[in-house]
Amino acid sequence: MFHVPCSMVSIFFLIGLIVGSFLGAVNYRLKTAEDIVWKRSHCPKCKEKIKWYDNVPLLSFVILWGQCRECKEKISWKYPAIEFLTGFLFAAVAFKFLGGWGFSPERILTGGDMIEMSFWLFTVSYLILIFFHDLDFMLIPDAAVYPAIVITFVYQYWKYLQGPLGIATLKAPVTGALFAALVAALFFFFLIWVSGGKWIGGGDVKLGFLAGAVVGWPKILLVLFFAYMIGAIVSLFLIAMKKKTWKSQIPFGPFLVSGILIVMFFSGHIQFWANRYLNMGY
Ligand SMILES: [Zn+2]
Repeated sequence: MFHVPCSMVSIFFLIGLIVGSFLGAVNYRLKTAEDIVWKRSHCPKCKEKIKWYDNVPLLSFVILWGQCRECKEKISWKYPAIEFLTGFLFAAVAFKFLGGWGFSPERILTGGDMIEMSFWLFTVSYLILIFFHDLDFMLIPDAAVYPAIVITFVYQYWKYLQGPLGIATLKAPVTGALFAALVAALFFFFLIWVSGGKWIGGGDVKLGFLAGAVVGWPKILLVLFFAYMIGAIVSLFLIAMKKKTWKSQIPFGPFLVSGILIVMFFSGHIQFWANRYLNMGY
């Protein structure tokens, strides 16, 4: 055996780059209704198929200087952004589950750890897709949300089977997830009803439901809190920069996704500080 001088975290970063490259293509193909998996990518302007060596995550964008090799059409900055973000979040998931940089190969992950970790990798993947799809097209794709809801409840059921709790408490994974999902969906439904659909759209109701299913009760309240706080800060910033006006429609999905990710990764820290300084004890 020889020593491999790179940690698992960087391997997951590389896997994330590849998954991110796929997500960038899916983001575009969901809109154009192209075959999502099997068709080779092509330039939207000159239709030239993209060669495998021009399809290396991050690197190709830099080498091609952000242009199509054939027609020099500009490639959107969002492709490398999706790739990097997916790589970063995959590395963060690995960091969380494999116990940091000093992961030793002797450490054995249980089957349960692997299921948890797979669920997290799956979740960050479709959240990135939803983030960019809503940003680009003001639409939260059902093709991402519905399968995610099903898989999330299967995961919550699996978690429920692992634990000692009965089904009749909000602390039980399935019950808490369902309750949180309904609270968020009803809250957004109510907002659509009062605003006549001006503030948020039907996609946000579904994404809210999914958010609740992922984080459970009462963490969904933290998700909503962060989503609105980030939304307010970003909106005010865009208005101050004169990129948007008070009347502009700004998609809410990206803020909701940010809230979910913050709560997924940091709810333990938030709970610790809240208990310590606010004595909230939730
Ligand atoms: Zn081209």
